[in-house]
Amino acid sequence: MKSLWNDGEAAGFKNDLALRTYTSRLLGGEKALVMYGGGNTSVKLQENGEDILYVKGSGADLAHVTEKDFAPLRLAALRSLIERDTISNAEMGAQFRAALTDPQAPRPSIESILHAILPFKWVEHTHADAVLAVANTDHGERHIQDAFGDSVMIVPYRHSGFELAKACHDVFSREATAKTIGMVLMHHGIFAFGASARESYERMIALVTRAEDYLKSRNIWDIPLRFPPAQASSDQEMLALSALRRDISHAAGFPLVMTLSSDLMSLAYARRPDLESLSQRGPATPQHAVFTKRVPMLGRDVAAFTAAYRRYLAENASEQAERLPDPAPRIVLDPEWGMVSVGITAFYADAAAEIYRHSMKIQSRAEALEAYASLPPREVLAAEIEYGGFEQTMRNQYELAGQVALVDWALSNQTRVEELLAKGAAVIGLDHDPAVKSLHTKPEYLGLCCDPDNPAQMEAALAQSVRRYGGIDLLITDNPTLAAACEPLLELSSLRKTA
Ligand SMILES: [Zn+2]
Repeated sequence: MKSLWNDGEAAGFKNDLALRTYTSRLLGGEKALVMYGGGNTSVKLQENGEDILYVKGSGADLAHVTEKDFAPLRLAALRSLIERDTISNAEMGAQFRAALTDPQAPRPSIESILHAILPFKWVEHTHADAVLAVANTDHGERHIQDAFGDSVMIVPYRHSGFELAKACHDVFSREATAKTIGMVLMHHGIFAFGASARESYERMIALVTRAEDYLKSRNIWDIPLRFPPAQASSDQEMLALSALRRDISHAAGFPLVMTLSSDLMSLAYARRPDLESLSQRGPATPQHAVFTKRVPMLGRDVAAFTAAYRRYLAENASEQAERLPDPAPRIVLDPEWGMVSVGITAFYADAAAEIYRHSMKIQSRAEALEAYASLPPREVLAAEIEYGGFEQTMRNQYELAGQVALVDWALSNQTRVEELLAKGAAVIGLDHDPAVKSLHTKPEYLGLCCDPDNPAQMEAALAQSVRRYGGIDLLITDNPTLAAACEPLLELSSLRKTA
């Protein structure tokens, strides 16, 4: 992995907090390091004679982070917390609020205490793919030692928050030397730290490169992709996908958008002879499970998946858990289709697909290195519960979240398209004018140019729509031929509406 540090660019960031946003974005822009709100960074500054920790706010995405996304906390107040034996999450939240120097600041990262106790001005944390591929193996600690030598300390898996901060504090107090530039958190990710923005960032890149080199030196970096791409879609495929979306939405209890990915990587993974074993061990880092669930569904039997998921909830949820996740899958692997990803909007279906594609690489490389190993189910469920809830927020905010609308003559019906998008629907815009394709660039919009009098073009447009969003719930057209062609899809929607 290459350092993207650029002196000219860096010079444009005039103070340390600005520089903190610069290198945070460099990390966040690299999907092999961190995705969708994962990871966090911090810098320790002096303000009015006091040491202040600026740590990324919870949920902010490193790729687009700004100075406002960092929460300023009194360092001494945070550091003193590490002396306690335990702190509940609620108490920790209250302590963070009390330590903030700006009450308007975002909610500080759950890892704020960990950032505070590390005696370095700059601290970076990612869920780097290459590090996880080395660490998530049966003898992960030995591989990490071989790959990194004495430049990192190894911290056993602990739940994020106080328990993890405590474990890191113990290991750091005992084992840190002048050579220590980072920490590997088993089944979770990696920290790097340094005295300058550049040093800290480049240590992260250097450590990740070492993990990559370790895998490359064993000839397991390249993942064999032996399978041809899927054939063109058929009517049957279209109906089977729509039926699958209906079943998954039914299991969730609310409508969901579903996207098919028949890329070579997804097909090759879905056709692995050891899929049933490898894919069912669990996620590479708990944060991934928030988007993908603990394991993917194999094949098309939604009832079997939900029954297994309910057992997982019954066996692993703590009694205090207030809100449990729904039992519907978010990733489906099928040897014929490749990967199907599911989300409350197209953005989240795409996020699940992207995260799982990274997961496929991590798992494949770890399995080639030795044997991929994940966490006990109860640890994964704890993360699913703690960081979940965004789907409910989306549903509260957007009346049509998870629903799919098809709008005919979309260029003349732009107001309608806007309205539907504003309410959270995924919208397919059809028009005979190719300008329909570029009406919107967001993932919730698919513009398709098709001649309404050409049945073959119309069929192809519907097939593409179903591959992209999984079906159609709402049809806006006065064309009887299009209405007839959509009828079998609408029959598979529990929310069907025509206008
Ligand atoms: Zn993390």
